Amino acid sequence: MGATLGVLGAGSILPRVGYGCAGYALRAEAGGPVTLLDCGPGSIRNLATLGIGVGEVRRVVFSHYHLDHCLDLFALAFARHNPALGAVGELELVGPRGLRARVEGAPGVLGHWAAMPAAKVVEVEPGEAFEREGLRWRSTANGHTPEALSWRVEPAAGGWSLVYTGDTGPDVRVVELARGADTLLCECSFPEEQAVANHLTPTSAAEMARAAGVRRLILTHFYPSLDPAEAGRKAARIFDGPIDVACDGRVFEL
Ligand SMILES: [Zn+2]
Ligand SMILES: [Zn+2]
Repeated sequence: MGATLGVLGAGSILPRVGYGCAGYALRAEAGGPVTLLDCGPGSIRNLATLGIGVGEVRRVVFSHYHLDHCLDLFALAFARHNPALGAVGELELVGPRGLRARVEGAPGVLGHWAAMPAAKVVEVEPGEAFEREGLRWRSTANGHTPEALSWRVEPAAGGWSLVYTGDTGPDVRVVELARGADTLLCECSFPEEQAVANHLTPTSAAEMARAAGVRRLILTHFYPSLDPAEAGRKAARIFDGPIDVACDGRVFEL
């Protein structure tokens, strides 16, 4: 199997069976290191659902710091202190500005178990690109919060590309980032009648996918008021490529 994206949480902070807080596990090659895209509460527990060990997590890339996207960073820190794990390798933490303050401040609030001595913190500015282990990463600001980013990742050698919106409202910068991408992993928080400016609905998610000309759309980040299957049907009226609907534990091939 080639690159895979496993869903650790396809829901929101509001409890819903089968849809936990935001977290995704990207593996560029079978048996290779794992990068988490966001790490909301429950993400670390759900690694087991996907058969991923804590020690396999090499990197966490954050979209923003709403707690449904980042709180399990500290559960990960605690887990990495567990003697059962033995020696853990370096962990790289990548995110928008504010990451260092959170990592350095955590032990003062949560105790020394929240310290991450082997973690390298990288704060990125919107638009800044970097490359790791043959993967190219690029981001854009999306206005969901002042710091929030959407991410695009693809092998330098080509083959696939993934855009993760994080949380966003309709935003041309995200459309540009996603231009021609293979897979758009797109937040779809609320039904149309509950639309808000800084989140998407099935219609606005599908409109972004269509405007960007992506090949495939995966809807995720469902609040309890939204029926995922219905969201997929609504999106299909606008976007005519394949549409998948995420739920916890699903694994998508990229
Ligand atoms: Zn958010
Ligand atoms: Zn969120």
